[in-house]
Amino acid sequence: MQKRTKILATVGPASDNVETLAALITAGVNVFRLNFSHGTHEYHAQVLSNIRAAMRKTGLIVGVMQDISGPKIRVGKLSEDFCLESGDRLDFYYEACIGEKVAPSHYRLSISESSVLRMLKVGDFVYLYDGLIRASIVEINDEYVQAMIENKGKLTSNKGINFPNTRLGIDILTEKDRLDIGWGVANGVDFMAISFVQNAQDMINAREVVHSYGGEVQLIAKIEKFDAVENIDEILRYSDGLMVARGDLGIEVPYYRVPTIQKMLIDKANAHSKPVITATQMLLSMTEKESATRAEISDVANAVLDGTDAVMLSEESAVGHNPVLVVETMVNTIQAIEEIYPYEKFDFGYDDVMDRVNESAVRLGDSLNAEGIIAMSASGASPKKLSRYRPKMTIYAATHEEKVARLLTIVWGVVPAYLIKKGRIEDMLTDIIQSGLKRGIIDKKNTYIFTAGYPIGTPGTTNIIRILRENEITFFGETKSQPGKAKKTDENAVATLF
Ligand code: PGA
Ligand code: MN
Repeated sequence: MQKRTKILATVGPASDNVETLAALITAGVNVFRLNFSHGTHEYHAQVLSNIRAAMRKTGLIVGVMQDISGPKIRVGKLSEDFCLESGDRLDFYYEACIGEKVAPSHYRLSISESSVLRMLKVGDFVYLYDGLIRASIVEINDEYVQAMIENKGKLTSNKGINFPNTRLGIDILTEKDRLDIGWGVANGVDFMAISFVQNAQDMINAREVVHSYGGEVQLIAKIEKFDAVENIDEILRYSDGLMVARGDLGIEVPYYRVPTIQKMLIDKANAHSKPVITATQMLLSMTEKESATRAEISDVANAVLDGTDAVMLSEESAVGHNPVLVVETMVNTIQAIEEIYPYEKFDFGYDDVMDRVNESAVRLGDSLNAEGIIAMSASGASPKKLSRYRPKMTIYAATHEEKVARLLTIVWGVVPAYLIKKGRIEDMLTDIIQSGLKRGIIDKKNTYIFTAGYPIGTPGTTNIIRILRENEITFFGETKSQPGKAKKTDENAVATLF
């Protein structure tokens, strides 16, 4: 049985070899995430080459997402652990220093991005160690910013620090990030996820860096800061997709707001036909255990019902004891909930003419009980538009380039099934149908809706909707390709099962 919702899996020591990667693809992974918060360029180059080997081994296509680490702000080195109690004072120095205890209940330290300290105001909150220790600013002077601890906790060196109600307004792309983006462009990654985005300008800047290396990738904005939530409309306009990055988001906003924000982000991304990923702690307990909690299974299922395009695994697949089992658990959960999925969503506005054409194709297919929509697409735009309506029919994308096929791996319900040489429309249809019949993904007894933009070359011009029933399928299936005219489909045409 098929699934519509896509799976992203983070690669790490538990999954970075060809054999495990191939097993993960076969189990249902659609996109691998390379987490640039860890690992060298050499390590990631090896992983990428292993992913490509796993693709060849399985004959299935997957996308690659490079996750750019961004400015995770951390406290500096501490000479000893700070055992903090409510009411203790922490002095954050502008000058770098080794953290130490200066008096009973009084400590000094510095942080990795000291310019941020200048943005703070008395009363602002400071969260340490993934939000486990909370403090607020009580005094600001020429040397340091003083915070008062609000709850007990032990602070150790290099732990993360968050400022959940301070607009930092920093350049989120570090020197390392810029070099990493250069690596991603040179190595042909499909997606780049940008961490700690604050506003649209951050996405514009990231795209400029990509372009400065002469590349083009799909840019995913990770929504994990309180100001990103406030600026979501402008961010979405300049992004190719979103990630609901619940790990850091749950520190930046009150924990009880995360589900509401998740639904809001998914709704907005769906409305604009942009893929959205729900991430972090989805099956966390399976990092060590054989089975997930009931709550985790419900979380995955509910993200699917919310309308997410993809669900993501982090530690579970990167360092977990059994990444393949985790993916199988996710697939089972997705398939079960998709039995009651609210397919055929039509209550969207129109962004452009393409939306009207694609909505008509879905409605037509629905009324004819079609099995699938075969969408020819030079840029990948049309399958994304079709996906917005969450059709019950599978969307089989036919693209001219493998690169475009890979961009669709993340999109709900889209199977990048055909690689077709550009040509006359009849020849391309012949190619698709003959290849589909040969590979068993087209059945003569079924009805299909075919959509295309013709002539090829102007992205966003879907202008053909054609019905393929038994007589057309038989006709094209038996058409002899005319030497010199019809160009044969690449024999190594790739397909995904899911
Ligand atoms: P991360 O992003 O895993 O890179 O931190 C996801 C999140 O914060 O949820
Ligand atoms: Mn994060």
